[in-house]
Amino acid sequence: MKICSKCKVPKPFSNFSKSSANKDGLYAWCKDCKADSQRYYRQTEVGKECHSKYQKKYRKTKFGKLKRNKGRKLWKLNYPERNKAHTAVHRALKMVLYFNYHVRCVIVLILRHIMMIIVNH
Ligand SMILES: [Zn+2]
Repeated sequence: MKICSKCKVPKPFSNFSKSSANKDGLYAWCKDCKADSQRYYRQTEVGKECHSKYQKKYRKTKFGKLKRNKGRKLWKLNYPERNKAHTAVHRALKMVLYFNYHVRCVIVLILRHIMMIIVNH
């Protein structure tokens, strides 16, 4: 058991994250307190910026890419029709990129409508 320095509640060692900076090799705050403070920090402006920076960095790493691809694959498996509609819209969008803005807007609206029909079926 270890007492959390934030909430002062004794908790088993498994409730503390590892930290090489501390003598006992565990973080001073329990996992709940740490998660709470992280949640709070992410709501602040500095925290938001820091988090988005970290996410951008993480996405470029091997694990980040793997995780992202896994998520995409799962999404494709779960929603095959939606994925079909999605790729169709993207392909069409690429083609109409050369059209002028107003024509493009109309086509996007039509495509969205088609996509909704496909998804709802
Ligand atoms: Zn705590």
